[in-house]
Amino acid sequence: MIKTALLQEEGILEAARIIQAGGLVGMPTETVYGLGANGLDPAAVARIFEAKGRPQDNPLILHIPQADWLERYCRNIPKAAYRLAEEFWPGPLTVVLPRRSNVPNRTTGGLDTVGMRCPNHPLALALIQAADLPVAAPSGNTSGKPSPTTARHMLEDMDGKIDAILDGGPCSVGVESTIVDLTCHIPRLLRPGGVTLEQLQRVLGEVVVDPAVTRLMKSGEKPKAPGMKYRHYAPKAPVTVIAGTPRKTARYIFEHCSPEDGIICFDEFRDLFSAQVVEPLGSANNLEEQARRLFDALRAFDHTEVTAIWAQCPDCKGIGLAITNRLNKAAGFHIVEV
Ligand code: AMP
Ligand code: MG
Repeated sequence: MIKTALLQEEGILEAARIIQAGGLVGMPTETVYGLGANGLDPAAVARIFEAKGRPQDNPLILHIPQADWLERYCRNIPKAAYRLAEEFWPGPLTVVLPRRSNVPNRTTGGLDTVGMRCPNHPLALALIQAADLPVAAPSGNTSGKPSPTTARHMLEDMDGKIDAILDGGPCSVGVESTIVDLTCHIPRLLRPGGVTLEQLQRVLGEVVVDPAVTRLMKSGEKPKAPGMKYRHYAPKAPVTVIAGTPRKTARYIFEHCSPEDGIICFDEFRDLFSAQVVEPLGSANNLEEQARRLFDALRAFDHTEVTAIWAQCPDCKGIGLAITNRLNKAAGFHIVEV
């Protein structure tokens, strides 16, 4: 078993040396903690898949410090990629582009495209610069579990499996990056995140929303982001999402829940559930806070005895689309509309 070191900011150079030597480092970003390795080294990348228990066909995103690194790993880059980078990088946006042959099959899960992102976190940027490599970094959770938004979450899943975790405090966005595929005729949203659909539309015009964002894939259906087909974000207890206005959903949950259930609700309704284990998500009208709290709330139930979880969720405006997508996936799309 590897001894996992918890590093602070002064440990950046050590973390960079680990990456250069083919090791694994937990990396704070503004979205969630990533599990970083040299994205050009198939053996290092293979260790990521092993540590997470990640299916081999689920590609990794390459993290770079600035947009002019795109040319090194991508070809036929459309102007739209640079417009998006100008507007949103560093930030929670991944662009999918045709890859060059120096990006290993291991990294892209065999696809001829690659996801590229420039994260908006000083420690992530400093680490990538110091390693002088594109850092492949999926979310740092065990596959299927909620993504980590603190170094402690990441230790829960990865202690003894990876070389180090760089502690950068809690993540400011809290849900993973928005992924937009620029290899399609019309840009396609593969995963909603911190950069909203409305923001993308302002820069790109028309954007197609991939069906995997809003509904369960049928058997045989292949989403464009391979990761979207897997069960994800799920706590041990089954989750039911109640969709509708906050008042109606709170009332529905109040009328249907048992004392031994867990509740994810907006702050305004927490007093309704005095017998249950409650994880408040934030105020009903504070989507940013809800995004930041979501994965911690989902993880917290695994330290309790709750046997079922009920969740209120916001509507799909702005980052609400990303919150709803993660909650619906955590629930296996078990949704009740009220
Ligand atoms: P994670 O790094 O855990 O946030 O997962 C990365 C997500 O990006 C997964 O859903 C992948 O399927 C998706 N992804 C990465 N690279 C590509 C690509 N080249 N084309 C489509 N989806 C991708
Ligand atoms: Mg992930």
